[in-house]
Amino acid sequence: MSETIFDKIIRQQLPAEIVYEDEAVLAFRDISPQAPIHVLVIPRQKVEHLEAFAKEDAATVGRFFQKVAAIAQKLGLSTTGYRVVLNQGNHGGQTVAYLHAHILGGREMQWPPG
Ligand code: 5GP
Repeated sequence: MSETIFDKIIRQQLPAEIVYEDEAVLAFRDISPQAPIHVLVIPRQKVEHLEAFAKEDAATVGRFFQKVAAIAQKLGLSTTGYRVVLNQGNHGGQTVAYLHAHILGGREMQWPPG
């Protein structure tokens, strides 16, 4: 697995505006926000993308998504709603090969996505 910018953020070699962290995940604000609130959630245990993550045990995968929902709630987005995006591969628009869930909120989202 090649080194990514998120590996450096996890190791605190690169600054990030962290909004939540625990033993399993790190959540930090996107450097180029696409909504008033745009937070990325990554597992501490590195995995490159959703398809690799899906091969892990169901409890690990399930806990990650429970945390994503809890972080969105902590960000105050539950009442208005929000969008969670997980880009996979080139056509999915994935630019960083380290699994990350985008939490986007604070404005009404459009559909379909670009
Ligand atoms: P992807 O396109 O892979 O789904 O999303 C990668 C995200 O990482 C993009 O939204 C991009 O703005 C964000 N990003 C890239 N480099 C950095 C960085 O150095 N710091 C932070 N906080 N976000 C980054």
